[in-house]
Amino acid sequence: MHGNLIGGQWCEASEVSENINPSDTRELVGLYARGGREDAERAVSAARAAFPAWSQSTPQFRHDILARAAQELATRKEELGRLLSSEEGKTLPEGVGEVGRASSVLSYMAGEALRVTGDRIAGLLAGSDVEVTREPLGVVGVVSPWNFPIAIPAWKIAAALAFGNTVVFKPAEIVPGSAWALVDILHRAGLPEGVLNLVMGSGSQVGGVLCSHPGVDAISFTGSVATGRRIAMDCVSGPVMKRMQLEMGGKNPLVVLDDADLDLAVECAVQGAFFSTGQRCTASSRFIVTDGIHDRFVRAVIERLKGLKVGHALEAGTHIGPVVDEKQLNVDLSYIDIGIKEGARLAWGGKPLDLPTPGFYLQPALFTEVDSSMRIACEEIFGPVATVTRVKNFDEALSVANATEFGLASGICTTSLRHATHYKRHAQAGIVKVNQATSGLDYHLPFGGRKASSYGPREQGQYAVDFYTVIKTAYTSA
Ligand code: NAP
Ligand code: MG
Repeated sequence: MHGNLIGGQWCEASEVSENINPSDTRELVGLYARGGREDAERAVSAARAAFPAWSQSTPQFRHDILARAAQELATRKEELGRLLSSEEGKTLPEGVGEVGRASSVLSYMAGEALRVTGDRIAGLLAGSDVEVTREPLGVVGVVSPWNFPIAIPAWKIAAALAFGNTVVFKPAEIVPGSAWALVDILHRAGLPEGVLNLVMGSGSQVGGVLCSHPGVDAISFTGSVATGRRIAMDCVSGPVMKRMQLEMGGKNPLVVLDDADLDLAVECAVQGAFFSTGQRCTASSRFIVTDGIHDRFVRAVIERLKGLKVGHALEAGTHIGPVVDEKQLNVDLSYIDIGIKEGARLAWGGKPLDLPTPGFYLQPALFTEVDSSMRIACEEIFGPVATVTRVKNFDEALSVANATEFGLASGICTTSLRHATHYKRHAQAGIVKVNQATSGLDYHLPFGGRKASSYGPREQGQYAVDFYTVIKTAYTSA
C-alpha cells in the first residue's frame, strides 16, 4: 500500500483505491491510500508549521534538493515512464518522455530558486529609499488532472518550493502512482518534514478542503472548466480570498490554408489531435481548412490514420494507447454519437476496439462536413476525436478559429508570411503555433490560455515567479 505523506510521515488512510491499467483492466498497478477531509486538514497544518523555516531557508538549500530530485527522476525515467504509461495509458515513449520533462522542469526550477530578484527605486520624498522584494505566499494547494500525471505536478510543486512555499498536493484519483513516486523522490532528496505533503483522495473531499481551508494561501489547479469554476468560488468564499491559478480546457483550432505544405499540415494535425489519445489540453480538435486543399487534406489525414496502431501502451509499435478510463471512453463515444446525429460525416474511425488485452481502446475519429456551431465543434471532448470545417479563405478561417469560448492554443499551417503574422497577432489564445502541432510545449516558456481556458498568472519558465511570490514595497528614511 502506498500511503499519503503528511508532516514527513507516510500514513495509511481508512480507505484504499485500486490503480487500474487502462491497457489491461485485469492488471492492478498498485494500491494507494484514499485520504479524506481529516487527512487534508492535518496536511494543511503540517504545511503551515513547516512554512516559517522553509520560507527562510537559503536558495542554495532549496536548489540542491530540487536538483537532486531532478537527477533521480532522470536516472529512473524508463522505470517511472513505464509506471506512468501503465496507469494513464499513453504510450511508453510518451510516458518516458514525460518523466524526462519532469526532471528538466525540476532542474530548471532549481536554478530559479537562485534567481529571485527585486528592485531598488528612489522614493519621491527626500531621503526615501524604496525596495521592491518578492516573498513566498505561504501554503500552496496543488490540484492536478490525470492527463499529465507527473509533468503538471512537477511544474507546480517545483515552482512553489523553489520560491519558498510549502505545499499540499492532491493528484487526480485515477493516477496516484506517478504522483506518489514524485513526492517520494522529493522527500528523500531532503525536504524537511511538512514542506511537501501528499494527500491522495477524491476531488470533492480532499480538493474541497484545500480550496476552502483558511490555512491555504493559494491554489494552483489544472483540470476542467466546471471544476475550475467550483474551485474559484471556494477560493473566494473564506475570510481571506486565496490567490488562484486555474488552467482549464480547450477546443484548439488548427487552420490549414491552401498554400500549406500538405505533408507538414497532416503531421501537425495527426500529432496534435490524436497522439496521447487526444487527451491533451492543447490537442487540436478542430481542423479549419480552406476550400482549395480541403479534400486533399482529408484524404491524407485518413491515410495517415489508417497506418496508426491503437494498442497496449507498453507494446512496441503502439502509436495510440487506450483512453484513460471507462468514464472518459463513454464521453468520447457519446460525442461521436452526437456528431453523427448532428449531421456531421464520420469519415474515419470512432469505433471501440476489442484487443487481446481488455482495455478502453478507441479508433481515432475524424468528422468532416462539420458546421462550426455543432456541439462536436464547440465542446471539449478530451479524446481522439477531431472535426474538419471547410472555409472559403483566411479571413473566415481566423474568425471560425476564434469563435469559441476557449483560448488555450491555436495553430496555423501556411507558407505565407503575411497570413502567419496576421494569425499570430489575432488568434485569441495564450499559445499560437505556426507550422507546428498545437500540443508540445517548451518547459522554460510561459504556459497558459485566455478566455474560459485560464484564470490567473502564467505557469512555467521565469514567469512562474509571479504566481508563487507576493511583492512587498518597503520605504525607508535613514
Ligand atoms: P477534473 O475532473 O476537473 O479534475 C482535476 C482535478 O480537480 C482532479 O485532481 C480532481 O480530483 C480535482 N477536483 C474535482 N472536483 C474538485 C473539487 N470540488 N474541489 C477541488 N478539486 C476537485 O479534470 P480531469 O478530468 O482530471 O482532467 C481533464 C481536464 O483537464 C480537461 O478539461 C483538460 O482540458 C484539462 N487540462 C488542462 C490543462 C491546462 O494546462 N490548461 C492541462 C491538462 C488538462 P479527482 O479527479 O480525484 O476527482
Ligand atoms: Mg476527473
